[in-house]
Amino acid sequence: MSRVGVGYDSHRFVAGRPLVIGGVEIEFDRGLDGHSDADVLAHAVTDAVLGAAGAGDIGAHFPPTDERWKDADSIELLRTVVSGLDGAVVNVDATVICERPPIGPHRAAMEERLANAVGAPVSVKATTNEGLGAIGREEGIAAIAVAAFDPAPGTGASDAHDTH
Ligand SMILES: [Zn+2]
Repeated sequence: MSRVGVGYDSHRFVAGRPLVIGGVEIEFDRGLDGHSDADVLAHAVTDAVLGAAGAGDIGAHFPPTDERWKDADSIELLRTVVSGLDGAVVNVDATVICERPPIGPHRAAMEERLANAVGAPVSVKATTNEGLGAIGREEGIAAIAVAAFDPAPGTGASDAHDTH
C-alpha cells in the first residue's frame, strides 16, 4: 500500500547568489539564502519523500551545521535520500509559490531534473501569493510538495497497518 508524505520549505532572497529551483538555475537579480544551494523546491520534495517513507526529515539527514553540505547540489542530496530508502517513490506533485521570477518557462526542466532524481514522475506547478505576506513582498520563495511511496514488501513500513 502506498504511503503519502508532505514537504514544505521556504528561503529568503539574498543578493549575490545564483537562483536554483528544482535543479534549474534561473536568471534573476537575487538568489536564495541557505547553507546548501537553497533549492527550495528540491528541499520540499525531499521532505515529502522522507515523510512518505517515514524516514525523518531533510534537517536530520543533512544538518545545516555540517560543512559537507555547504553549497551542496540539492538534487544530488535528493538522489542520495531516495537511493537509501527501502521502496520506490510512486510520484510527486509540487507547487512553487513566488511573485517572481516566472516559473512557467522552467517547469519542464524542473520536472525532468526532479523526476530523474526520484525515479518517478514529478509535476511542478506554480502560483503567486497575490501580494500577501512575505512571499507577496518578494522577500523569498516557498514550495510545498506531496509524494507517494511504495515501501518494499516485508519492511516495517509496509507492515505497519497490521500492527494494531
Ligand atoms: Zn531549504
